[in-house]
Amino acid sequence: MNLPIEKNGIYEMRIDGMGSNGEGIGRIDGYAVFVDGALPEELVKVLILKTRKSFGFGKLLEVLEPSPERVEPVCPVARQCGGCQLQHLSYKGQLAYKEDKVNEDIARIGGLQGVKSLPIIGVEHPYRYRNKAQFPVGCNKDGQVQIGFYAKRSHRIIDTPVCMLQNEINDNIIQLVKEFLEEFKITTYNEITHKGLVRHILTRIGKHSGEIMVCIVINGKKLPKCEILVERLQQVEGVVSVVLNENHEDTNVILGQKCTTLWGKDTITDTLGGIEFEISPLSFYQVNPLQTEVLYRRALEMANLKGDERVFDLYCGIGTISLFFAQHVKEVFGVEIVEEAIVDAEKNAERNGIGNATFEAGAAEEVIPRLYREKGITADVVVVDPPRKGCDQQLLDVLGQIKPEKIVYISCNPATLARDMKILTEMGFVAEEVQAVDMFPNTIHVEAITMMTYCGKTPKNDG
Ligand code: SAH
Repeated sequence: MNLPIEKNGIYEMRIDGMGSNGEGIGRIDGYAVFVDGALPEELVKVLILKTRKSFGFGKLLEVLEPSPERVEPVCPVARQCGGCQLQHLSYKGQLAYKEDKVNEDIARIGGLQGVKSLPIIGVEHPYRYRNKAQFPVGCNKDGQVQIGFYAKRSHRIIDTPVCMLQNEINDNIIQLVKEFLEEFKITTYNEITHKGLVRHILTRIGKHSGEIMVCIVINGKKLPKCEILVERLQQVEGVVSVVLNENHEDTNVILGQKCTTLWGKDTITDTLGGIEFEISPLSFYQVNPLQTEVLYRRALEMANLKGDERVFDLYCGIGTISLFFAQHVKEVFGVEIVEEAIVDAEKNAERNGIGNATFEAGAAEEVIPRLYREKGITADVVVVDPPRKGCDQQLLDVLGQIKPEKIVYISCNPATLARDMKILTEMGFVAEEVQAVDMFPNTIHVEAITMMTYCGKTPKNDG
C-alpha cells in the first residue's frame, strides 16, 4: 500500500470539512484524514494514529491557525468525554453544521434535489437542557467507586458528577449514591466479568413539575440497605420516586424489563404544551422538554391540518404527539412497541380529558398492515417518529398502499430519514419541505421534520 503518509508520523494539514461524527476532515496529497476536535479552515498539526486504504485517523496535537468559530469548551472534561462532540465549536457553527448535515443527507442518500430547507431552529440556552441522565457505575483499579460518563468510543468511566448538559441537581444525587455505595461496600458492575451489582443510576426530572425520579439499575434482585438510600434520597428536594430496575443481561442496553418502586410514585409527571404527561421508567420521553414543544409545534404547523383528519401517530411513545395533534383533528390512533408507554399514553389521554385518541401496543410494521388488511383502516395524515434505524420497510410498503394525503416524518437520524424519503418518493410521495430542529446542543445529534404529500405520480410513470 503506497500511502502519502505514515502511521505515527506528524503532519501539518488544512481541515476542509466535517464528518458525520463531528470530526474535522482534511487531505494530505489527496488522502483523507479524520481528526477529532479539528474544525474546517483550521491549520492543524496531527499525529497519524491509523491508516486504511483510502483514509486515516489523526490525533489533534496543535491548532496552528484556529477557526473563527472555535470556542473554549465550558466543560472541563469535554475532550475526553464521549457525550459532547461539538463543545469546541460556536453555537452558531453547530447549527450550520447540523443544517448542512440534514440537507446533504437528503441530497446524497435520498437523491432528492430542491426540497425546501427551512432554517434550523436553535435554542436560547445550549447547556443544562436535559431532563434525563444515565450515569454508568463502576470502579477503578483501587476499588474506588466511579460514577460519571463514558469516554469517547469506549466504556471507560470518566468519574465526574458534573455534566453541563444535565440539571445541577444530579450532582447531589450522584454524590449521595456514591457515598452510599462506598459506605456499605456495595459492589459495582463490571462489564467484562459480568459480576458486581450496581450498573447505572438514571434520573428523570419533570421540567415543569420539578418532580424527580431516581432509578438504580442492578445486576441482581436486591439492593442491600436500600431503605437507607431511600431515606437519604428523600432529603433531596424534588425527589418523589425511587425505583429499582433489574438488568441481569450481558448487554449495553441500560434498563432491564423489571421495575420495583422502592418509595414514592411509580411515575413522574410533566407538562408539554399545556398537556400533562405521566412518564414511567421504561417509557421513552424526549430529553429536551423546552425544544420538544418547539418540535411538535413545527410538526403541527407543517401538517397544516383542516380539523377533520384521522391521524396515525406511529412510534408514539407515551402519546405526546398524539395528544398534541388530537386537539386539532377528528381522531388519532397511536402505535408504540413498549407496552408500559401505551399504558402511560392511555392514562395521559384520560387525565387530560382527550377522548379522540386511542392506542395500541405493538410494532408499527405489524399493527398497521394488519389493521389495513383486515379492517381497511387508513389515515389522512401519518406522523412517524421512529428510533435511529428509521422505519421498517413493511411499514413504508403499507403507507404506499394506504396513500395518506400527508406524511409528517420526525427523525433523529438524517441518514435513515433520507433513505426512507427516497423509498416514499418512489411510491408517489413528494417531499415538500424539511425543518431541522436542534434538540441536542453541543452534540452531533439533530432532529429533522419532513412533510411529504401524496401526489400519486411516481417518478417512473411521471415521465
Ligand atoms: N413520538 C414519541 C417517541 C419517539 S422515540 C415522542 O416524541 O416522545 C421512538 C419510539 O419508538 C420509542 O418510544 C420506541 O419504544 C418506539 N419503537 C421502536 N421500535 C418500534 C416499532 N417497531 N414499532 C413501534 N414503536 C417502536
